[in-house]
Amino acid sequence: MYNSASLNANEFISDEEVMESLAYADANKDNYPLIRQILDKAALRKGLSHREASVLLACDDPELLEEMYDLAEQIKKDFYGNRIVMFAPLYLSNYCVNGCVYCPYHRQNTHIPRKKLTQEEVAQEVIALQDMGHKRLAIEAGEDPVNNPIDYILECVKTIYSVKHKNGAIRRVNVNIAATSVENYRKLKEAEIGTYILFQETYHKKSYEQLHPAGPKHNYDYHTEAMDRAMEGGIDDVGIGVLFGLDKYRYEFAALLMHAEHLEAVHGVGPHTISVPRIKRADGIDPSTFDNGIDDETFAKICALIRLAVPYTGMIISTRESQAVREKVIRLGVSQISGASRTTVGGYTEDIRPTETEQFDVSDQRTLDEVVQWLMSKGYIPSFCTACYREGRTGDRFMSLCKSGQIQNCCHPNALMTLKEFLEDYASEDTKRVGEELIQQELLNIPKEKVRGIARSYIDNIESGQRDFRF
Ligand code: SAM
Repeated sequence: MYNSASLNANEFISDEEVMESLAYADANKDNYPLIRQILDKAALRKGLSHREASVLLACDDPELLEEMYDLAEQIKKDFYGNRIVMFAPLYLSNYCVNGCVYCPYHRQNTHIPRKKLTQEEVAQEVIALQDMGHKRLAIEAGEDPVNNPIDYILECVKTIYSVKHKNGAIRRVNVNIAATSVENYRKLKEAEIGTYILFQETYHKKSYEQLHPAGPKHNYDYHTEAMDRAMEGGIDDVGIGVLFGLDKYRYEFAALLMHAEHLEAVHGVGPHTISVPRIKRADGIDPSTFDNGIDDETFAKICALIRLAVPYTGMIISTRESQAVREKVIRLGVSQISGASRTTVGGYTEDIRPTETEQFDVSDQRTLDEVVQWLMSKGYIPSFCTACYREGRTGDRFMSLCKSGQIQNCCHPNALMTLKEFLEDYASEDTKRVGEELIQQELLNIPKEKVRGIARSYIDNIESGQRDFRF
């Protein structure tokens, strides 16, 4: 029985409800009056239900599709302006006891070297990341209660926050580790993590069980109910996602939105972010052996429709995607991207990109400076801001900032100030020139005169050597 407020995975991601929604979408994919109604509702910027969004996903009329894209772009501009938040993943350990068939870290992979960073190595990686200009990390680890217990993860978080190299600092550590207990989530909260991220991989229970044949991750219910435990443990920013390519994308899309509706129904706040990874080639992993790969067009449509369905939820795209694909989907709704990522354990301290322990192939291999300059050349403001979480604006408090329309007086100056720090400390001459011009131009777009004045003086202070201002 479908019940979005239930705490039972099989009820809030009811297979029956997904199948009925897909049948409804098929039956209505050419129902113009209904589609019109759904698009009008989306234009109110209050979101769409999984059923409504599924109808749009099924619709393939080129003109209506164009309208969906235009609306997604507009909603993105309204809520996120032209800011793109930057982050990098940091791989701590590839020891893993699970059997995920799409991941090279699965336990039966005996030829991949296993590596776990010591605290000294974590510090070295963090220095390398700080020296590029990163302020926000997502830590990644396999699941292994012996090699990577929660205490190891907590120690790493502590080390990461403690490293202060030159003007560098990691100000927000997001955590992407396997589903765990309320008690452990509470410990992560106490360690002051930012978002807890966990991809569902696939919402289709039967496929999930086949794709995760061994290890604790095999338990679909435990994995699917993880965000409820995280929220019970006090973490109010959670990030969900699907690994596209594992199962049918229309199923995943409807279920992903049902998950968001569930979190909203139970905890009063939806997911902070949604990630949209696609399977990539990796050691012993050939993406073409998975039948459900999606092309770039479908991928872009999914991103645009997530933007319409959950306007306040951040959307993340990683370096799994190429520059061209990233460019397309940033316009349609993505608000956060990684830059200069290395998906190897200990990869940032190597001069040449290592591949030995890589989790997947990275398509976008540009440096952070190149990504920053590219974003600016496309009219975006690369932002290294971490202010909300440090000011306690998480969960529903962050959502109310979004809804109040005050983002332009808060996130916009914060983005400019953190970009200024990047330009002063890490940018190439060329990037600096483009950035300085952009900052002067964009300061004019801060609506409140008083805020504009304060932002200007903070930016002057940054130029004379001070750091870490925020609204
Ligand atoms: N081990 C943790 C867990 O089980 O959730 C999370 C960390 S894992 C390093 C991060 C994510 O990488 C996984 O959730 C999965 O979606 C993704 N991933 C695994 N193999 C991949 C591949 N071949 N291509 C793209 N993404 C992959």
